[in-house]
Amino acid sequence: MNYPDLRLPSPVRLLADPVFEDAGVTVYLKRDDLIHPEISGNKWRKLKYNVLRAIRQQSDTLVTFGGAYSNHLFALASFGQMAGIRTVGIVRGEELSPSSSPTLLHCAARGMELHFITRSEYRLKESGGYFRSLIKKMPGSFVIPEGGTNQLALEGVGEIADESEQAGIVPDYYVVPSGTGGTAAGLLQKGKNVVAVAVLKNAGFLEADIRKWIDPSPPSGTLNLRLDYHFGGYGKYSRELLDFIEGFESRHHIALEQVYTGKMFYGLYDLIKRDYFAKGTVLMAVHTGGLQGKLQPKSS
Ligand SMILES: *Cc1c(COP(=O)(O)O)cnc(C)c1O
Repeated sequence: MNYPDLRLPSPVRLLADPVFEDAGVTVYLKRDDLIHPEISGNKWRKLKYNVLRAIRQQSDTLVTFGGAYSNHLFALASFGQMAGIRTVGIVRGEELSPSSSPTLLHCAARGMELHFITRSEYRLKESGGYFRSLIKKMPGSFVIPEGGTNQLALEGVGEIADESEQAGIVPDYYVVPSGTGGTAAGLLQKGKNVVAVAVLKNAGFLEADIRKWIDPSPPSGTLNLRLDYHFGGYGKYSRELLDFIEGFESRHHIALEQVYTGKMFYGLYDLIKRDYFAKGTVLMAVHTGGLQGKLQPKSS
């Protein structure tokens, strides 16, 4: 396998902001968005040990699932091409065409084999007959779940904390955006405290989903799940969120997108302004990447 050229450990930087100074908190940012332009952020963290396991098992094909805008599909397609491993993406509900999402066009351009299934078939996924017959046609394939989250993914995410401590920073909390909750779970399993900002509406179920992943011994860190910063649901956003992102970008010269990292930082600023954290608290926000999904300004 050709291992892609990755920027690891990812850089850490201190964010200076009058809002943080007023509240007496210190905020660092772990720049996982800089790991690789296409295999960015938590998607590399989650893939790493899955890929190593697949190779050890001599699998020559990586199969996974996602929607038309999945950052996980995007990253896996790029990884597969660079590493010389065949990839297959099973996509819910859309046909590939010139008007497909930029994510799917990218995946196809990187050589990912795409299969489209209906939403009801997709819901059955692993248990469905369609899926089983598909896998039967691909002997030696290694299946990675939707969003890339499984036990092996947690191990990779834990390295965020290792790197941060090697850089001499032991934060009181890690702050992450949460979709499936795998990133939060990986840090909790390492015994770290986590503030997780849910990007989906009614995401209370994440609490149980995250706990389900974590091995109860040794003791995990504490989970602080924030449910109020979803802006209407997954992929939804408002003018207020876009304005916040623009303000953040002009102050810090770091790009955010509106699906994950914009909501995380909006939530983090809001909590800090409300004095949610005691003075002296040290926070490590994780830039989980995802910038290929950034809303582009409409050209007129
Ligand atoms: C997929 C993704 C997440 C969500 O991670 P989970 O482990 O599913 O909670 C967060 N941020 C970005 C940029 C992502 O692409």
